[in-house]
This record gives sequence, C-alpha cells and structure tokens, in this order.
Amino acid sequence: MKKWEENVRRVVPYTPGEQPDFADMIKLNTNENPYPPAPGVERAMRAMQSEPLRLYPAPGADSLVEGLANYYNLKKDQVFVGVGSDDVLAMAFLTFFNSDRPILFPDITYSFYDVWADLFRIPYECQPLNERFEITKEDYFKENGGIVFPNPNAPTGEELSLSAVEEIIAHNQDVVVIVDEAYVDFGAQTAVGLIEKYDNLLVVQTFSKSRSLAGLRIGYAFGSSRLIKYLNDAKYSFNSYTMNRPSLSMGAAALEDEAYFRETVDKIVATRERTKKELAQMGFLFGDSKANFLFATHPDYPAKKLFEALREKHIFVRYFAKPRIDNYLRITIGTDAQMDALIEFLKEYTGK
Ligand code: PMP
Repeated sequence: MKKWEENVRRVVPYTPGEQPDFADMIKLNTNENPYPPAPGVERAMRAMQSEPLRLYPAPGADSLVEGLANYYNLKKDQVFVGVGSDDVLAMAFLTFFNSDRPILFPDITYSFYDVWADLFRIPYECQPLNERFEITKEDYFKENGGIVFPNPNAPTGEELSLSAVEEIIAHNQDVVVIVDEAYVDFGAQTAVGLIEKYDNLLVVQTFSKSRSLAGLRIGYAFGSSRLIKYLNDAKYSFNSYTMNRPSLSMGAAALEDEAYFRETVDKIVATRERTKKELAQMGFLFGDSKANFLFATHPDYPAKKLFEALREKHIFVRYFAKPRIDNYLRITIGTDAQMDALIEFLKEYTGK
C-alpha cells in the first residue's frame, strides 16, 4: 500500500442492478416502470432549446419545487429536491444522522443505507424483520441516533401500516425519522400527512418508479420547513446546482398528467395481482407486496439456479446473495406481455 493510500476514505460501494442491453431482453431487475413517461414529458423535451443551457439552473429548483408543493398541497419550504431519491437520502443521512448513537434500520432493506452510513461514519444497528419479513415497530422504540426505513420495504414489498409508522415517529421525536416511500404509489399509504404533526419526519419519494423517469434522476422529500432548511443548508454547502434544466422542466411536466399517472400505476397493480396468482399456482411463496415488484421463493427450486436459467433466456430479475434472502428472487412487474413470458418460462421450469 502506498503511503497516500493510508488516508483514503475507503468504502465498499453499493452494487446497482445490472443494466444489460439486449434487443430481446425482458428487464425485470431494477424496478423500472415498463410504460413510457407521461406524453407531456415528451412535449417538454421537444420544446427545449439548447441556448438556455449556457446558464446555470435555478439553485432552488423552483419550478419543480413549486409543482410538487401544489400537487401535494404543501408550502414550497416543505419540499426538497435532488438527483434521484438516492441523492436526497444521502444528503439527509449527512445532515440528520450526526450522533454517536446508532441509527436504526431493518436487517433486510434497501442495501444503500449501510453504504451511506459507512461512507459518512454513522454508527448503525440493524433490526431483524420477523419471519414473515415484516418490521416489528417495537424494535424502533429504543434509544437511537435516527431511523430510516422504506415503506413499502425493499426488496420485500411489505407495507407497514400508517398507524405503526406513526407510532415509530411518536416514540422518536428527539431524532429524525426518514420514511423512504420510493414505492408508495403502488398501493401503500403515505406518511406525508404526518409532516404537519411531527417536525422531525422526512418523507422521501421519487419519480423513478411510478412516474417512469428513472433516467431523469428526480427525487424529493417533504418535511417541516425547519427540516427542509437544514437539508438545503447542507446541499448548498456541497453542490448548489444539483438539478439540471432539462430535468426541471420535464419533471414539472410529469406532474401535470394525473390521468396518465393513475392509468399506468393501476395497470402495474393489476398485473402484479395477476402475477401473484400465477406464481402461487406454481408453488412460489411470497408476501403481499404493495410495490412494483414481488419477492418470491420456491421450496423446490433454488433461487440462484432459477436466476441463472432466466438470465440465459435474457429474462433479468434480481438476486441477492445475502443472509436470509439468498433463496429469493425480486421480480419487477413489467407489462402483461413481459410477465406472460416470465410465467411461461417458470411453468416449463417447474413443470406446473
Ligand atoms: N429507495 C429505495 C427503497 C429504492 O429501492 C430505490 C431504487 N434503487 C431508491 C430509494 C432510489 O431511487 P432513485 O434514486 O432512482 O430515486
């Protein structure tokens, strides 16, 4: 090791799902939306001109913040935006998890949380999900330096009831509680209504899933104006211009088509429920996912083998070689035709 390497901030990075590029592939591995963004996004893109790009974007991302505030009936100073919810969450970890006490999150959850904690030197303690992969709210009633969990949880898809979410917040009013609602639009209840009651609650959402805009990188958070001010102070001390001009105008356009949003979300939910029935008939076991993915296991067929067999057919799903979940597959809900291809393959594989 070179001398200079002694002082390098070393981290084991998060591993994103692969982004293969085959013409014939069925991509069900990174929870993207199979439908295109709202038509207004395309119109906004075509209307864009390159000339304004010589100017920096608005540092406060005002058009998008205003669009979100109007949509969710909030004040502008209760809204923060960032480059995907990963950016928002990372900034929130940096800003709010600054204590010697460990932050708490589930043992099976979004695998970026421990990476940010390590990167920012935040102590953490994982709380085991129960055998049905549910969060036990009482695990979060002990002393801690902050709390973060997704709702629905990832990669399990399990929803924690809004009343249980509120109980966790109510027991933790001396720390910041982050509820990561990346998948909430697919059937879970949002905690956004609680931000008026609890000034220590941050609710984080994204345009990557329900609004089909993973490629644009837009995430946002809602919280008390005090909380949002602290987040913005940290952001302006790091990078003032996180949101680029094209993202600001296309993002605002995405919020304007409620009918399209409802239609695509409803289609994904209907496909998810149909897929649950098909998988159950083949003997797969899974929880009642409220997200745009299923987390499934089969008593007779090892997940890793199945993952590899699917991969050979260019059907990509996600497999995590991690304790407790190494016999599960996380399957993103695609179009009906994509799910039919998956189901057909699985029927043949299982002989059912
Ligand atoms: N939270 C959870 C639970 C996720 O699964 C993801 C997607 N990887 C994110 C946040 C981040 O999504 P994005 O940065 O695209 O908004």
